[in-house]
Amino acid sequence: MKKSRQIKHTLHKRDSETAPLYFECPKCGFLTADERFGADQILCPVCSAHGDGRRTFPPERLRRLDTRIRKYQRDGEHEIVVILVETFLESILEDIIDRILTARGADVTVREVVLDGQRAIGARIGRLFPHLTGEVFEDAASELGYRDFPRRWRDLRSARNAFIHDSPFRGPQESLTARDGITAMELLDQAYELFVLLNNRFVAHEKPDVPFCERG
Ligand SMILES: [Zn+2]
Repeated sequence: MKKSRQIKHTLHKRDSETAPLYFECPKCGFLTADERFGADQILCPVCSAHGDGRRTFPPERLRRLDTRIRKYQRDGEHEIVVILVETFLESILEDIIDRILTARGADVTVREVVLDGQRAIGARIGRLFPHLTGEVFEDAASELGYRDFPRRWRDLRSARNAFIHDSPFRGPQESLTARDGITAMELLDQAYELFVLLNNRFVAHEKPDVPFCERG
């Protein structure tokens, strides 16, 4: 099995004030925080293409969501923070699966069919991800240095679900706590890093068949 290699400057130093900005390689889809790649001063460390500085991650819709989440967190709105972070995490997981499908040659129709056929978050993590990557999500996260992420995400999802729907098994949860809000913010910051590392491991290849920017 291919061991992940971490390329220097790939991830940001975390500041938790705003969403980070990553530059995407137009040829292989590699993501890096290294501004020299965005400014086309260095070549892509995976496929040696030039960066164009225009293709960035996260996409605008996630950046807007991130801004709103951080505002609610500053305002002490823990319940909204947890619910929005869950939405964010589900969206970012959909993006990474979509990118993995794209890297494997799936066109837009196939990607839609696959993602529509597997809407539940548990099935996407438990079935879709291992089918596409050959690895269990928990193991992939652990190997990239985020061993606790899947469990903490699961726990937060349970707390959110118990808050929204009274669970017959657990009894109703009256409120989400400040602690849940902090956990959600930590997961939000980690999700960017894990996304980038998963992308670089399962999406970016040295010799892509079709340039990433030309895929539908
Ligand atoms: Zn590249």
